[in-house]
Amino acid sequence: MAASTRILLVEDEASISEPLAAALEREGFAPVVARTAAEALELFDRTDPDVVLLDLMLPDGDGRDVCRELRQDSDVPIIMLTARGTEVDRIVGLEIGADDYVVKPFSSGELVARIRALLRRAQPSASTARELNIGDLAIDTASRRVSLSGEPMELSRKEYDLLVELAAHAGEVVTREDLMASVWDSNWFGSTKTLDVHIGWLRKKLGDDSNDPRYVHTVRGVGFRFAAPEEFTSAG
Ligand code: CA
Repeated sequence: MAASTRILLVEDEASISEPLAAALEREGFAPVVARTAAEALELFDRTDPDVVLLDLMLPDGDGRDVCRELRQDSDVPIIMLTARGTEVDRIVGLEIGADDYVVKPFSSGELVARIRALLRRAQPSASTARELNIGDLAIDTASRRVSLSGEPMELSRKEYDLLVELAAHAGEVVTREDLMASVWDSNWFGSTKTLDVHIGWLRKKLGDDSNDPRYVHTVRGVGFRFAAPEEFTSAG
């Protein structure tokens, strides 16, 4: 990992941003602080950060809008910082493309652990870089490109991670718990409803009918099974 991972910290409250920026520096990160949504977008373009920590309530706007804006042309890991912790907020936070979510008050240690977990996941490892071909689906894990019947698929980061986790175990059942732990975080306390929401989106993009899916099969009470390549070659 690079010696100085750049972190854009978007937080208007100095009582939070100052100690947090100091803690991040002690951990070897290079934090840059933005206090408004406008400043966040400007600093994002200028500093090209490796991770964004994004407060939900900003003086000139909503952190979710900033997140959507960043997601239009960036896959940068984004962690939302919020004082609200309801289920709806969690799903909304993920729906807009954030990778993780911490509820205030949080410890800098907890946040640093999550940053490191996201950076590990964002870094493609050579040992897992390969191409998976299942049915009409082709996944290139080196470039993170996916195509269906030769057409490129537009997947969110979570949809992609879910797809790869399922497809890497094609033909086998992957439990809900394993999916939550590998795609979200082992310390994720949200309901597994979030998982169902993302599976629903993934199925839609794969053209899967949830009553008779080709790719993502539900194994009731356990998890999901991605169709094995041989299930397609024998179909006639
Ligand atoms: Ca705030």
